[in-house]
Amino acid sequence: MPAKSMDELVSLCKRRGFIFQSNEIYGGLKGFYDYGPLGVELKNNLKQAWWKAMVYVRDDVEGLDSCTIGSQKMFKYSGHTETFNDPLVECKDCQARMRADHMKDIGICENCGSTNVTEPRQFNMMFKTNIGPVADEANAGYLRPETAQHIFANFKNVIDTTAAKLPFGIAQIGRAYRNEIVARNFIFRVREFEQMELEFFVKPGEDEKWHEYWLEERLKWWEEQGVARDKFEIEDLAKEDLAHYSKRTLDLNYKYPHGYDEVEGIASRSDYDLGSHTKEQDKLNLTAKVKENTDSNTRLAVQDIETKEWVVPFVIEPSMGLDRGLLAVMNEAYTVEDLGEGKERIVLKFKPHLAPIKAAVIPLAKNKEVLVNKAKEIKQQLQALGLGRVLFENSGNVGKAYRKHDEVGTPLCITVDFETVEDDDKVTVRNRDTMEQERVAVSELSAYVQKFYMGL
Ligand code: ATP
Repeated sequence: MPAKSMDELVSLCKRRGFIFQSNEIYGGLKGFYDYGPLGVELKNNLKQAWWKAMVYVRDDVEGLDSCTIGSQKMFKYSGHTETFNDPLVECKDCQARMRADHMKDIGICENCGSTNVTEPRQFNMMFKTNIGPVADEANAGYLRPETAQHIFANFKNVIDTTAAKLPFGIAQIGRAYRNEIVARNFIFRVREFEQMELEFFVKPGEDEKWHEYWLEERLKWWEEQGVARDKFEIEDLAKEDLAHYSKRTLDLNYKYPHGYDEVEGIASRSDYDLGSHTKEQDKLNLTAKVKENTDSNTRLAVQDIETKEWVVPFVIEPSMGLDRGLLAVMNEAYTVEDLGEGKERIVLKFKPHLAPIKAAVIPLAKNKEVLVNKAKEIKQQLQALGLGRVLFENSGNVGKAYRKHDEVGTPLCITVDFETVEDDDKVTVRNRDTMEQERVAVSELSAYVQKFYMGL
């Protein structure tokens, strides 16, 4: 049962240390969020799940970690300087700024209802900066609005160093920046975020087949993260809604508390990007309409071994927003359970591999040294398994600790009591979902936890 409202999620995130408004001590910066102690763990786990599925289990994908600032030339040829725009409407009465394509009626201010509004004008969403000490046009650069462009720019480097053959992909996780006209819905629409993008290069003519393939792969991946496929509406974007590079885009729209909205786009970018950034465009039979490139020093193409012909690969791009993904996973996991007698509990039922804390080790009393020492010892023993964060939880109130760990989604709570140290050397292991408790010998605890997480 997902959360009923965004407010419930926002409140839990703040209360338990998942996500904070950025620059809060100076009144907050709109569209910027910082991830706290639990948020960073959840985010890393989601990244790892993506990287494993998109890189490690495959033999046809390589990874990349590029810079986040790009040159003017990069974004001129990618088309972003000219076309990465949203239509902006301003209210002359209350000064509110709105995105025309998000308004119900572009003649009426969403904030104050005035009809004294401007015509929509194109607003470029890239953050501009200066490279080096001189702040002039010649030294301008941009914070990247997507991770993709540096992947295209490194296409030849990756091929030359890995001997990759079509079809193959390059994956990257990293920051992207967009100066959104209106940042809203918590971490859904922000100005600094992370993307997880795969650029998968295929032979021209095979793009449609691979587009279907990646849609299916991505839906399977989402299922493994706890978001069933029936939670998505798959939107085949209308021609007029396509980005400047796209031949066809399938959006995965997840049902957020604010309504169905895009968490991932799977775009077929044709030969537009490699074609735009390549030299010798006229020798390469490009299908996409690209700007003439007089600056690139590299031919971004592969040679067919049999025909000796140069081919500019087509690209299929599954592009997911990590922040939006995290919000979806969190919303899916959010559960309010009726415990009877007017009692209820909030549980984040994360898939175990995503849980920010893998196990909490709790001494029954916080001021009893034997219990505390034993709990610390067990924490270190479990930490060494390399499954993720194990927490020594010294609050002195087991009931409260269970409630807290339900709320942050810790799958296992391990309690050390007097029997543990005086009698049987066993601990109580409590399962988050079933709330069942069992006694497990400390000597068998590592194997127990490993089995729980890895099915070993
Ligand atoms: P939207 O239409 O919602 O503005 P988009 O179609 O421009 O998104 P893409 O360019 O396809 O988004 O970017 C790929 C992914 O990056 C999106 O599916 C989304 O998850 C994420 N993303 C894009 N813009 C933002 C943002 N402002 N905040 C958080 N994530 C974003």
